[in-house]
Amino acid sequence: MKYTVLKPHQRIAAVYLIAATLWILFSDTLLYTLIGGNSVTTRLSVAKGLMFVTFTAGVLYLHLRWAFTTREQLEGDLRLQMQHAQRTQTDLQHSEARFRRAVEEAPLPTAIFAEDGELLTVSRSWLDVTGYSRDQLQTVSDWVDLAYGEDRERIMVGVDRLFELDQRLDEGEFTIRVANGTQRIWTFSTTPLGRLPDGRRIVISTAADVTERRHTEQQLRIKDRAIESSITAIALADMQGELTYVNPAFLRLWKLDATADMLGRPVTEFWVSSADAEAVVQTLTERDDYVGELRARLADGTQADIQLTASLVRDADGHPVCMMGSFIDVTLENQARAHALENERLKAGFQKEQERNELVQRIISMLSHDLRTPLTVIESSKDLLLNYANEMTLESRRNKLEGIGRQVHFALELLQDTVNMARGTLDKIPFRPAPVNIVSLCQVSADEVPTAYENAPPVTFVNQTPVDTVVVDEVLVSRILLNLLSNAIKYSPDGNEIRLELVCCHDNWLVLRVVDYGMGIDAEDLKNIFEPFFRAKGVNQIHGTGLGLSIVKDCVERHQGRIHVESEVGQGSTFTVELPLQTVGQRVPELA
Ligand code: ADP
Repeated sequence: MKYTVLKPHQRIAAVYLIAATLWILFSDTLLYTLIGGNSVTTRLSVAKGLMFVTFTAGVLYLHLRWAFTTREQLEGDLRLQMQHAQRTQTDLQHSEARFRRAVEEAPLPTAIFAEDGELLTVSRSWLDVTGYSRDQLQTVSDWVDLAYGEDRERIMVGVDRLFELDQRLDEGEFTIRVANGTQRIWTFSTTPLGRLPDGRRIVISTAADVTERRHTEQQLRIKDRAIESSITAIALADMQGELTYVNPAFLRLWKLDATADMLGRPVTEFWVSSADAEAVVQTLTERDDYVGELRARLADGTQADIQLTASLVRDADGHPVCMMGSFIDVTLENQARAHALENERLKAGFQKEQERNELVQRIISMLSHDLRTPLTVIESSKDLLLNYANEMTLESRRNKLEGIGRQVHFALELLQDTVNMARGTLDKIPFRPAPVNIVSLCQVSADEVPTAYENAPPVTFVNQTPVDTVVVDEVLVSRILLNLLSNAIKYSPDGNEIRLELVCCHDNWLVLRVVDYGMGIDAEDLKNIFEPFFRAKGVNQIHGTGLGLSIVKDCVERHQGRIHVESEVGQGSTFTVELPLQTVGQRVPELA
């Protein structure tokens, strides 16, 4: 059943209609019942009228009073509500203004925009950093055009998606173009703000300008890359002397595995002398820098000469924070320098030997001259005795024979003195084996000997040894090479090539071989070739003393070595010297 709620005026009319109708219908009956009698009198009619009026007035009064009271209450409530609403609206307007001001004055570039593209608020910082005016930035599209240019389509797709957000989104980095034409890097983060009263969705975007930070990061990355790809080994260590960083070149230099973990390892463990390394650390703390050379111990067990340049790194306040070192392997340079020095020394020694050889030649020439007198005396005494012996007294024959004896004795003494002189008192020189770079010595000999001869044939040095330093007596080996090569040159009149071969480790012998394709030696003469003053047949035109090979033999024997010769007339000769092989570190035997 459905009740219809009547409005006040309808209710009043309805009540009146019902009351009046009931009164007209039942008033007489009621009055007759109360007063008695059936006649209607004027007094009763008046009373009836008055009662009706009173009753209806009373009902009307009560109703109106109720209606007015209710209305007044409602109006009061309404007024209160309106006042409250007004206050709320004012508050809202104030907070909106505050919010707008907060956005406009935000230190970070901030903007609020609606889904139809209207840029509702743009912070001053946004305008300041970009250089665009507020007039230029009326819509999101204006901004995207100016800031992204050709990239606008892609950016707009992203902007449209922002209105679907239900929470904050960090959008990442964007490169924007600012008014002066340069580019800046901004990171955006956007938060949905709900809807405007007109129903449009709005979002707030805040940007952080990270251009400088990215630039600094990039510079740092470049510095990092530069250090990483540097061919110079670089390491950092903390103030306790423990490594905090090494670059790949460091690992390569120390022959370490590329993945080796170096962090925390003490800097002293990379050097042969940890005391030297500690001294460097100490120097650094006192002097701020250090430049010097240290011997490094490499991972494969070898060693290297390292030029170390180290410095103390201080922070902005001047407090030392770490040590930095760069390392250059100077082993090869040192070796080359030592090699050059050694070559110079060998050359000087060799030249001395050459001078000595010339001296020997002169001594022998003098000898031949000095021998002429006693030999002439002997010759003439012999002739006298042969031709006139019968006519001479016994006394004078004896005198002559004694004279011959004296001259022979003198000649022999002269000869012995000369041999001793020529040998350079070889016997008295102590045998002094020491580490010698035999390869360099051979090379110097091959280079130097031909310089003493006019039109000398070329001397080629052929090295077949894996070792270069052996223990020999350098002076004696110089003499061996000097004499053998001089002979090869002297007795190769056709200028054929001469070869000096160095062969090593043949049954633990160091083998030196001088090969020529010259005149060769007759088999008959070969037997005597190492005798002092022996000269083979047919060499009179060639300057010589017959002493060279005997000296060579002496020098070889001082080493407890061997020498032999193979030769064929017209084909050439090969002199082979074998010396016991001792490399550095091996014990030097006691030789006679
Ligand atoms: P020198 O060369 O001063 O005569 P050596 O003792 O060096 O004295 O040599 C002795 C002799 O051996 C020489 O006179 C020469 O007849 C011979 N001889 C040495 N080396 C060679 C050679 N390479 N080729 C040919 N004959 C040589």
